[in-house]
This record gives sequence, C-alpha cells and structure tokens, in this order.
Amino acid sequence: MPELACRNVIVGAGAMGAAAARALASRGEPVVLVEQFAIGHDRGSSHGAARIIRHSYADPVYAGLMPAAFRAWRELEAAAGVSLFVRTGGVSFSTPDVDYVGRVASCLAGLEVPHRRMTGAEWNRTNPAFGVRADSDVVFEPDAGMLAASRAVALQVDLARSIGGETVTVLERTPIRSIDLDGDRPVVVAENLRLRADRLIVTAGAWTERLFPMLGVPLAVTRQRVCYFRPADPTPYRIGRLPVFIAMGAGPLEAFYGMPDLGGAVVKAARHGGLATNPDDDDRAVTEDDATIVREFLRGCLPVLADAPLAFTETCLYTSTPDERFVVDFLPGRPDVIVASPCSGHGFKFSCLIGRILADMAIDGSCSLRPAGWGLAGEES
Ligand SMILES: Cc1cc2nc3c(=O)[nH]c(=O)nc-3n(C[C@H](O)[C@H](O)[C@H](O)COP(=O)(O)OP(=O)(O)OC[C@H]3O[C@@H](n4cnc5c(N)ncnc54)[C@H](O)[C@@H]3O)c2cc1C
Repeated sequence: MPELACRNVIVGAGAMGAAAARALASRGEPVVLVEQFAIGHDRGSSHGAARIIRHSYADPVYAGLMPAAFRAWRELEAAAGVSLFVRTGGVSFSTPDVDYVGRVASCLAGLEVPHRRMTGAEWNRTNPAFGVRADSDVVFEPDAGMLAASRAVALQVDLARSIGGETVTVLERTPIRSIDLDGDRPVVVAENLRLRADRLIVTAGAWTERLFPMLGVPLAVTRQRVCYFRPADPTPYRIGRLPVFIAMGAGPLEAFYGMPDLGGAVVKAARHGGLATNPDDDDRAVTEDDATIVREFLRGCLPVLADAPLAFTETCLYTSTPDERFVVDFLPGRPDVIVASPCSGHGFKFSCLIGRILADMAIDGSCSLRPAGWGLAGEES
C-alpha cells in the first residue's frame, strides 16, 4: 500500500477540521484534510442552516472565550468577504428553582456584554410571541445571533484550498480505518493509502472513539432530532422579531433551544440531548413522539408555535463528555498527535477559534487561548 509523507494531516472535515485546515494554510503550512464522506455531508454534527452564537454562558470559562470567538468569526467574514453571522438577540430563561440565568447574567456582567435581566412576565410583554412562566428568570443578550453552519464549513475548506493552493489536499470519501502509532510518526490508514504525518490532528466528531478507543474520556454519541415548524403567520418569528432562545430545565433532558430561520418562513426548535446512537446508522427519523416532546416545550414558551405544522425535520449528532466540557489535547506522550472533540452540543460557535488553537498547538506546541480544562485528564495544573 502506498505511504505518503505529509507535514500536517487532519482527519475529519466538519466545523473543527475545516477551521483547522484554514488556520494551518493561513500560517503557510501544507495540509492533507481527509473526510470519510463528501465535504458538506449531513451525517455528522456541523450541517444545517444555522447555529446559535452567544456570550450567554453560565460557565465563565466558555463565556470568557466568547469575545475571541466572535472576533474569529468576524475575521473569517472579512477574509472571505461574506457574512456568516446574523444578529438576532438571544434570550435565556429558566424557572426560579434552576440555578442558571443568574450565573449567565453574572458572566455577561463580568464581560461587560450588554444584557437585560427580567422576569418572565416582563419578557412576555417585551416579546408577545412568548408565553413563558411569569415567574421565570430571564436574561436577554442583544448581541447574540446565528451562524450559517453548513456555509461556514464549506467556506473554510474553500479558503484553505485557495490560500494553500497545491499545498492543500482534500481527500473526500476516504474513511480512515485506523491510526498506527507504533512508529516515530503517526500513520493514518485508509483502504488503499497510508499517510505518514509529521503532525496529526483528529477532529472526527462522533467517530473519535472509533479511532482512539483508549482515550480515557467517555464520549457519548447521541442523535438529535430537530424540528422546523411553519407558523401560519411567520411575521412574529422572523429575524429581528424572534431572538434565538434557550430554556434550561432542572434535568439532563430538560433543556430546549430554537431560532428563527435565515429564510424567514420556519422556526427551528429542539431538545438539547437525545438517546445514544451508533454514528454509522443513517437514521434520519424524527417521529411524532419526538415532535410532541418539542411541542410540549413550545406550549410553555411560544404557545402559538406549539400547534404549527412541521415543515421538515433533521437529525444531527452530539459527541458529549459527561460535564459537556471540550477535549482539545495532545495524546499522552505524542506531541505530534492532537485529538479535538469540542462538541457536547455547543461547539460550533467556538469552531473558528478552535481552528486557530489547533494550528497553534500543532505548529508551536501550545496555544495560550486553550483553557486548561480541555485536557484529556480534565483540569491541568
Ligand atoms: C442539532 C445540533 C444543534 C447544535 N446547535 C449548536 C448551536 O446552536 N451552537 C453551537 O455552538 N453548537 C451547536 N451544536 C454543536 C456543533 O454543531 C458541534 O459541536 C460541531 O459541529 C462539532 O464539529 P466537529 O467538527 O467536531 O464534528 P463533525 O462536524 O461531525 O466533524 C467530524 C468529521 O469527521 C469525519 N470523520 C469521522 N471519522 C472519520 C474517519 N475515520 N475518516 C475520515 N473522516 C472521518 C466525519 O465524517 C465528520 O465530517 C449543535 C449540534 C447539533 C447536532
């Protein structure tokens, strides 16, 4: 089997791999980007019209990274001459017994990000499409919005190619069967090809544990079943009227989110979290029961929408750590191999920045932007 020597190999061309390829190419590095499906496929975690971007985090580590993440998206937009971000505002709410909005508000205050905290009753008056519990705890962040997801992934692959020219190779429909770490350099093994890399970055999403079964961090793969509702009168749900929304409940499967549509006719809504799944299953089913779970949530949030017809549905994969933290680290004892699983259902907004972090780690051996808690062993000293 032919073996090619490569400077930088990236396995997986989703949001993280595409961003890393662009960042490496931007630093003048040759790159081989390998993807098991076609670029832009809908079998992983990064496809679909849009993703939420917000500073509104309860965890100060993630909130603290958001100004840099927003800057990274603006830099990409400037480099490409396109807009990927739409400012919609973002509302986060929970019932008073759930310790969430207070922590979000204190993170926003700490970052000096404009926001307004209020009760559910005040919020419902502010935006009559909503009908949340009057005693809910609510925080509104005007600068939150949406990112054009699939477009951003494709754009970064195109940019990597245009920046790097012949030094950037994208191998589509090339599933990597295994990674050979026996030698002094990592070798990724495909059906008819071996790539020997000076530096290897693995951004394989839901398939990460397939390539690194002994990672030492449990990664749970779940299938998200997403609904798009078509209200009879879309006016109150259009961009500029409907902000992105996040409802945090007490239990693990009691968080929901949604957003207006870039096209203006439908509203995306889904539960955060789902059942364990095999990433290889091409399961696209969203049943009436799945939709009913979301409708029941909407009844206490956007009541009119709860009975709107389903326009279409979508499935997508989360790769989650137990505490939803990201994993971006060198394999133990291998400064030439980086594994990145920054998902847990909230990684997209960071992907542009994480691309840069991965490139800096590969080239410089470290990146000051990478939080200490993203190590394979958790918090690093
Ligand atoms: C329904 C849903 C809603 C979300 N909403 C938000 C949101 O609003 N805001 C937000 O910030 N985040 C959100 N996220 C999370 C975010 O989309 C993900 O964290 C992010 O897309 C993960 O990107 P990734 O590159 O790690 O994974 P992926 O996009 O899955 O990329 C991994 C790639 O690796 C390839 N691959 C795997 N194994 C191999 C192999 N052996 N050989 C070759 N290629 C391989 C896969 O085919 C895939 O293309 C959401 C996720 C889902 C599913």
